[in-house]
Formats: sequence, structure tokens, C-alpha cells
Amino acid sequence: ATLGGKGYEPSVKVTFADVGGQATAVQELKEALEFLLRSDEVAAMGIRPLKGILLSGPPGTGKTLLAKAAATYTDAVFLEASGSEFIEMYAGVGAQRVRTIFNRARELARRRQKKRAIIFIDELEVLGGKRGSHTSHLEYDQTLNQLLVEMDGLKSSQDVQILVIGATNRPDLLDPALLRPGRFDRQVKVDLPDKEGRLAILKLHTANKPLAPEVDLEAVARETFGFSGAHLESVANEAAILALREKSPLITQKHLMEAVDKVMLGEKLGRKPAD
Ligand code: ATP
Repeated sequence: ATLGGKGYEPSVKVTFADVGGQATAVQELKEALEFLLRSDEVAAMGIRPLKGILLSGPPGTGKTLLAKAAATYTDAVFLEASGSEFIEMYAGVGAQRVRTIFNRARELARRRQKKRAIIFIDELEVLGGKRGSHTSHLEYDQTLNQLLVEMDGLKSSQDVQILVIGATNRPDLLDPALLRPGRFDRQVKVDLPDKEGRLAILKLHTANKPLAPEVDLEAVARETFGFSGAHLESVANEAAILALREKSPLITQKHLMEAVDKVMLGEKLGRKPAD
């Protein structure tokens, strides 16, 4: 297990242009990030600094992608952890990991001479579930309390501005304390893409692939109702594999439609697209 999350500078930076079909989410996120970019003005006006943004929506819709794009947009170092990484059998370990990741974020930003750090916590409901409920016990409570303490301690006067971006597909399970002002008080919904969104995502994920001229991505977008971005990425990948297997230099409509069936079947069998 890692000690309090991985921090890295992705070799290829993710930008908002890499996120397909989430226009509303991108716009809301950018608006919120203005508070981070203009933290001096925000502080001068006596406005509470932005500390947390919650991205909520189904799996594979691009929440991680959005968080990485947010880091590029704000020139921040990016640290990533999953809620489940904080939960250990031994009391106090989770709370210690929360402290560690905040300290690492500050350290990393200073070392890279950045003014900002984004800590991305996926599966926030695992560590931030309702306290005192049957799904939580003492260890979870301590970990969640530590996260609240760290977030409450963030000030705009500090040399490194830290923003926590949480992601969850079960916002209903979150402890209301997390959603109070000064914590994750900005919520951005990241829904499954509509037909236009699916087309945009298919275009992104086939841009580097040899498509036959007859390929009709709009038809693929029409046939993939309910697919997430991660599913659509799988469709593009599977279609390329099918073409390769048939020694076809180009990906045809038939390959794409077979890939759609394959991904749909995989989903019915209960496999996650990323597996
Ligand atoms: P989870 O809740 O399972 O963590 P997530 O919402 O964080 O999922 P991502 O990890 O961002 O989803 O998406 C997984 C992969 O699916 C991405 O790396 C990308 O290839 C593809 N993908 C998902 N959504 C989009 C999108 N809107 N545009 C382009 N690609 C996408």
C-alpha cells in the first residue's frame, strides 16, 4: 500500500479537450476553479477559499479525467488516492494517511515550485460514509474526522493552495458533514453522456486509429445508449483488436458494431469496462 497517495506529473497532461461530452460539468468545474486561480482577489474580498469540489456520477464517466484536467488548468501538482486505501484494520492508520497526503501535497508543490495542489480522492463514500451508521465504524469515523480537520485548516494565506476533489457514484451515502460550507460545498454532476456526448467521446478515442472511410460514428453513438465514456473507450479499443485479428489494416463499421456487442455482453456478465 502507498503511504498517503501517489503524486505524479503525468507525462502527457490531460486537458479539458480530452474530456468528451461533459460540457456542463466542464463549465461548472472551470467556474469553480476560477476561485483557486484568483485566490488573492478572493481573499481580499473576504470570500471563503474554495477547498473542495465533489464530482458525482456513474462509474467511467470521466471524473478522474476531469480532476486531472483541473490540475493542468490551474497549474497544480496532482495527487491521487482512493477512499478504500485509507481504510485499514488498525485504528489510526487511516487518519495518519490523510495527514500524510496533505503534507505530501504541500511538499511536492514546493519542490516543483507550484502554488497549488489538487488532491483527488476517488470512492469518497468509502472514507466519507455517514458516521455512526451501520456501514461505518470507529476507524472510518477517525479517518473522516481527520479529512475534515485538514480541510478546515486550509487557508488562502498558505503558500500552497490545496483543493480537494472528491468523486463518488453514491453521493447519498456521504456524511452530511462533508457537504457543509467550507468543505465539499461545490457539487458537479457528471452524468452518462447523451448521443452527442457519445459521438464526441467516440471521436476522441478513434482519433489515433485507422478508420475505414465508410465508418459512421453517429450510428455507433445511436446504438450505445447507456454507455459510459469508459465503455466507449473499450468499444474503440476492441474494434481495433478485431481488425488486427482479421489482418484488416482499417477498422470497419462491422468491427465497431461487434465491439459494441462485446462490451455490452461484458457489462451484462458484470465485468467493469476497465478490467
Ligand atoms: P470511476 O468512477 O469508475 O472511477 P471515472 O468517472 O473516474 O470512473 P475515468 O476514470 O475518468 O472515469 O474514465 C475511465 C476512462 O474512460 C478514461 O481514462 C477515458 O479513457 C474514458 N472516458 C471516460 N469518460 C470519458 C469522457 N467523458 N471523455 C473521454 N474519455 C472518457
